[in-house]
Amino acid sequence: MPKLDRSDFKYNAKVFEKNCLWCGTTFYASRSTAKYCSGTCRGYANQAKQSEEAVPYEETEKMISALLSENAYLKGQIQRYISDNEELRKIIRQLQSV
Ligand SMILES: [Zn+2]
Repeated sequence: MPKLDRSDFKYNAKVFEKNCLWCGTTFYASRSTAKYCSGTCRGYANQAKQSEEAVPYEETEKMISALLSENAYLKGQIQRYISDNEELRKIIRQLQSV
């Protein structure tokens, strides 16, 4: 999961603001050498690199593969918001039951 929020880290942790080389999302990393916001993006970037080395891609194929990886990334983001949502619902339920 990409850490999109500084508060995902301890307040005194050393963090680096980075832009994902694959999807462009700004994220926070504990290492200055971090390149990708998530394992998904790293995976797709490596895959793209490997397949470019093996077989030259047609432009359209490149676009399709870029869109597919964007979809995968967005699915991950949605998943994150869904779980955030559930977390908030839980908190609301707890507050209401007091
Ligand atoms: Zn990314």
